[in-house]
This record gives sequence, structure tokens and C-alpha cells, in this order.
Amino acid sequence: MKNSKNSLNSLTLSETHNGLRKKKFSSSELTQACLTQIEKFDDKIKAFVTVSKEEALKQADMADRKIAKKEDLDKPLLGIPVAVKDVLCTENIKTTACSNILANFIPPYDATVVKIIKRQGGVILGKANCDAFAHGASTENSDFFPTHNPWDLSRVPGGSSGGSAAATAADMCIYSLGTDTGGSVRFPAAFCSVVGIRPTYGRVSRYGLIAMTSSTDTIGPIAKSVLDTAIVLKEISGKDEKDSTTSIKLIDDYKKYLNRPIKDLKLGLPKEFFVEDGMEEGVRKVTDDAIKTLERLGAKVKTVSLPHSQYAVACYYIITPCEVSANLARFDGIKYGYSSKNADSLLEVYTKSRKEGFGAEAKRRIMIGTYALSAGYYDAYYLQAQKVRTVIKKEVEEVLREVDLLITPVSSHVPFKIGEKTSDPLQMYLEDIFMSAAAMAGIPAISIPCGFSEDLPVGLQIMGNYFDEKRVLNLAYVYEQTTGWYKRKPKLDTSNLKS
Ligand code: GLN
Repeated sequence: MKNSKNSLNSLTLSETHNGLRKKKFSSSELTQACLTQIEKFDDKIKAFVTVSKEEALKQADMADRKIAKKEDLDKPLLGIPVAVKDVLCTENIKTTACSNILANFIPPYDATVVKIIKRQGGVILGKANCDAFAHGASTENSDFFPTHNPWDLSRVPGGSSGGSAAATAADMCIYSLGTDTGGSVRFPAAFCSVVGIRPTYGRVSRYGLIAMTSSTDTIGPIAKSVLDTAIVLKEISGKDEKDSTTSIKLIDDYKKYLNRPIKDLKLGLPKEFFVEDGMEEGVRKVTDDAIKTLERLGAKVKTVSLPHSQYAVACYYIITPCEVSANLARFDGIKYGYSSKNADSLLEVYTKSRKEGFGAEAKRRIMIGTYALSAGYYDAYYLQAQKVRTVIKKEVEEVLREVDLLITPVSSHVPFKIGEKTSDPLQMYLEDIFMSAAAMAGIPAISIPCGFSEDLPVGLQIMGNYFDEKRVLNLAYVYEQTTGWYKRKPKLDTSNLKS
């Protein structure tokens, strides 16, 4: 049951792009290879909540016709199979946010990012599992089932976009889309040894994304290489009149910047992110080696300080529940999704539908958010958190005048065991310790594979200035090409199911 190294589904996006144009294989064959991989391994990994096989094969056939007629050959996503996180609306395909309250919801429209992919002739393989409403860091908060890490099935893939990252790492798709509100693209990318970028807030349209924390929600690609990530990001970026927070700023052709020399780049190591305490020895070593490699490549590395970043998690876990409590108010048993059958009055439709439909984490966030926003507490919590957020943002801006990019770990440890942290929500919130600052500031940040500790993946985070994705990707690419970590793949035989 081993996955063949040279099968079509294990190719990168740029490799498939070339192969399709040179007619080495068709989109239908490529799509079928991904579907076969899903059939073989997804009963163990559980990356998908919906596989839209028929639609995918139809879209692949359409792409093949276009290729035969030499139409749209310049479109980078043409004919390429993608897995889409299940918080992004897909017309006529179930979109559940992995919550029971939306278990049967079929959207009448596509999210802008999905529309872009379809317009290019892309192939939507299905919807990827995630923590319900993207609340979490392990994908265990999915109301349906947890996703397993392809590197060790007894461990979590990270979250909340764990299905997207696991599907990409296990070659069940060529690339995937995730969302990063406070780490949900970067964190699972690191745990699964794939590349994931959180773009600058406002770079990619959020239209059609089931909102979590509207002021920090972003959509980002998860892919098998930095080049692939750069290609997808460029295509999904841009102004969208349906999302007024999107920027009109020019989209750089990221590909052109990838190979630039990095010897003039100034890299900052925020000292608050490099404390010995709580850091696993193996992860520290891998991270140190990565930094040494960057130095050897000529980058100038110096220690910097972001003193208020220590409050980023606390600040995030006030602002997020506040916005979540407002955004989830629309799920009332009337407008969308599940409606309780046991209600005797309108009020009971609301209360029972929400009680029966939401999982524990969504309820926890609604309660914390409602509390923090209520009269008397608003000033003490929400307003205070917003002030701290502004301080964090200013500090980041100041440091990014001194250095070009910031380097930090993604996590202090390797992927943990399924069930290890589920009984302690605070422990799970602390998983975001290296993630929240970028989210609070709204800057771009990438996670790239930087090695292994005890045979489990470790990721490196590179954060950059607003709309400076090109430099983030440049450093990531040069590092990736020098070290080649991204080429390592998990062995997908069932014997890697460790107890
Ligand atoms: N782990 C964070 C949370 O639970 C991040 C989630 C996200 O980015 N969607 O809020």
C-alpha cells in the first residue's frame, strides 16, 4: 500500500502545469490519481469531509478540452486539483465549516477565491476537514472527526486547516487552500512539512469565507514548495469589490523575486521568541541550524525585541471570541443550517438550535466573547485588548524599519498526540504563541519545512512587512532550495500507525 514516489499526484503544481501543457498527462489522469490516493489513504488520514468526485472529473474534462484547443494555457491553475478548506463556500457543494450546525448547508455561490480557481479551469477535489469554524490548532475541534498527521497517524496535523495540510502532505491533492486567522495556515503547514503562507490582511478577498475573526481572517495557499505557494498566492490576490478590506495595491509577480540573492537581507530574531523555557531540544536545534544556514547564505542576522508580543496570545483570545460571538449570531436556526425539531416557540428555535448545533469550542468562544463585550466589561477587556493590539502593531512596524524580515519558530514542539491537549482549552490556545503577533499586526508570514526532530516535521516562520510577500517568499525559496527539506515525503503505509 505504499505510495509511489513518481505518481502524478505527488508532483508539485509547477511540475503538473508543465506536464499538462506538454501533454505528458491529462487533467483527467491527474485528477484520477489524486482521487485514487484519497480512496487509498483517506480512511486513515481523514483529511476530507466531502470528496466531490463527479464534479472534479467533469472540471478535469473541461480543462482537458481547453488544453486541446490551446485555450487559457497561460492560466497557472488550469486543470490542477485543489482541496478547499470547508469554511470556504463552494456553489452546490456542501460547506459545513465542520460544524453540526451547518452539516447540510449547500451554498448558492462560490467564495471569490473558489471563483478565481474555477475561472482558471481548476479542479475542486473536495472540502478539507478543519476545526469547527476554524477554532483550534489541531483539527480535533471538527464536529465530525479529527484528521491524522500523515507523518504519524497517532498525531495531530495541526490546525485549524489540518485537512488541507494533511491532504497536501499525503499527495491527495496538488495544493490546497487554508485560512489563517491566528495561525491556521502556518501551524498545520509546519506540522505536516509543507509550505503555507498567511498573506497581508486585505491581500486576498474574504468574500464567501465563513467569518471567524473578521479583523484578522486571511486565506492562504498550502502547497508542496515555495514556488507553488508563490504561484497560487499571486492568482488569488487582489481587489474584490465584494470585500471592502481588499487592497488595490499592485500584486507583485512573486515568481520573479524568488531567486534573488539574499545577501543584503537583514533578518531580525525577536528575542522574546527564542526563550529556552518550554522549547523542545530537538526543535531548538533544528531552528538554530536553519538560522545558521541563512547566515551562511549571506543574510545579516541580528537580535531584535518585540516586548509586547508576549501579550499577543492574550490579546488575540479577547478579540477573537468577541468577533466570533458576533459572527456566529447569524446561526439562529432560521437563516442557515440546522434548526431544532424540539422547539415550541421562536425563542426555543434560537436557543435549542444553537445548543444542539454548536460544538463545545464554539460555545466557549461565544460565551467569552459575549461576556467581554457586555456593558461594564467592554472597556476592561475588548477596548483594552484593542489598545494592546495597536501597541503590538506599532512595535512590529518599528522593528521592520530596522530589519527586512523576522525569523521565529512556528511551534516549540513537534506534532503532539491526538487527544493529548483536548481536555485543556488553555493549553490549546497556547499553541498560538508564535502565531498571534503576525495576526494582530496583519503582516504576511510563511511557514516552511526546516527539518525533523525525532522523525517529525519542524517548521520555520518568516514574517515580513505589509504587502512584502515577495521578500518573505524570496528568503523562503532560497532556504528551501539550499536545504531541500520540502522534498521529503511521509511514508504512507499503514504500519506508520504508531500506538
Ligand atoms: N489556533 C487559533 C484559534 O484557535 C487560530 C485559528 C485560526 O487561525 N483559524 O483561534
